[in-house]
Amino acid sequence: MTVTNLLDFDLEGLAAFCEGLGEKRFRATQLFRWIHQRGASDFEQMSDLAKSLRGKLAACATVTPLPVLTQQESADGTIKWLFDVGNGDAVEAVFIPEEDRGTLCVSSQAGCAVGCRFCSTGHQGFSRNLSTAEIVAQLWFAEHFLRRHLGRDERVISNVVMMGMGEPLQNYGALVPALRTMLDDNAYGLSRRRVTVSTSGVVPMMDRLGADCPVALAVSLHAPNDALRDDLVPLNRKYPLAELMSACKRYLEPAPRDFITFEYCMLDGVNDQPEHARQLIELVRTSGVSCKFNLIPFNPFPASGLVRSPTPRVQAFARLLADAGIVTTVRKTRGDDIDAACGQLAGDVKDRTRAAERMAQRRTVMMRRAETLPANQPAGEAAR
Ligand code: SF4
Repeated sequence: MTVTNLLDFDLEGLAAFCEGLGEKRFRATQLFRWIHQRGASDFEQMSDLAKSLRGKLAACATVTPLPVLTQQESADGTIKWLFDVGNGDAVEAVFIPEEDRGTLCVSSQAGCAVGCRFCSTGHQGFSRNLSTAEIVAQLWFAEHFLRRHLGRDERVISNVVMMGMGEPLQNYGALVPALRTMLDDNAYGLSRRRVTVSTSGVVPMMDRLGADCPVALAVSLHAPNDALRDDLVPLNRKYPLAELMSACKRYLEPAPRDFITFEYCMLDGVNDQPEHARQLIELVRTSGVSCKFNLIPFNPFPASGLVRSPTPRVQAFARLLADAGIVTTVRKTRGDDIDAACGQLAGDVKDRTRAAERMAQRRTVMMRRAETLPANQPAGEAAR
């Protein structure tokens, strides 16, 4: 019999699964709450489910998290996990605590096919799409780990950004049920403005997302004209700026008070000149897209051949945009000491030929540590 990982389902999917077992749909809501609100993975714990249902579930289903390969905690409280997704692939999730929020940056693919020049994930190439279970498992693990770690009963993660490894809109089928689980009041109950999908500009999928699950949208812009964007974000050759800006406009039509966040990685001498700021202002004016800009200090890595813009230039660039009436923020660098730059996750999997070997070594260390843990503690927690 196939064993199904229940993290793969949004509530609708879980209801269909329960009906397939001859159970009423409302049982799915109870089960969904146990899994996502309470972090339960053992069906025997789920005391308000009939014993017969618990028995059926034990025979054909699991709640299986991703094994944690490493966990690193920065001096500023940022925590980065490296999760094993098999076959020598690993993906990262990063928790960024702030005074008024806790944000989790989540990965959608192992590697990425878009190949942006300034992104270390892009330099690794594409391995495979994550399943819904593998996307949700990052949130499931982080939320329930953090509650225990911080000794809190209430929700710790208030925002999710799909800005980790991968282009989420190139993994649309798995992404949407994962987003629905994040928004569901019976699971994480995040408001749609607190869940952000970041895209490099997969235009047709932006339209579909707007229709299916209109969460907040961030667009990796990084250049003010097609010639430069073709070079920095190769997907621009397929969906150039005019098409991208029209898609942004359409995305906002049903909710005119929303805005698009344009991410702009500041690269020394490449896209950080006053002329580039002026072109951006023109682009925004002519397209009429309500937006704000988030300027990102580049996180250098050797293979890129690129350098971070000096801080005064970033500030001058921000001022030009702000003076033109565009809300502009400069992203604070967080978790620098653990290499946790969200959206440019370096990971430890750059060298794919050696990644499997390194993971096997880590797994051995973790298994040794796990042997010393109490029997009811999940193996993934051995990384702590
Ligand atoms: S920035 Fe995003 S879309 Fe571009 S290569 Fe990196 S992960 Fe892929």
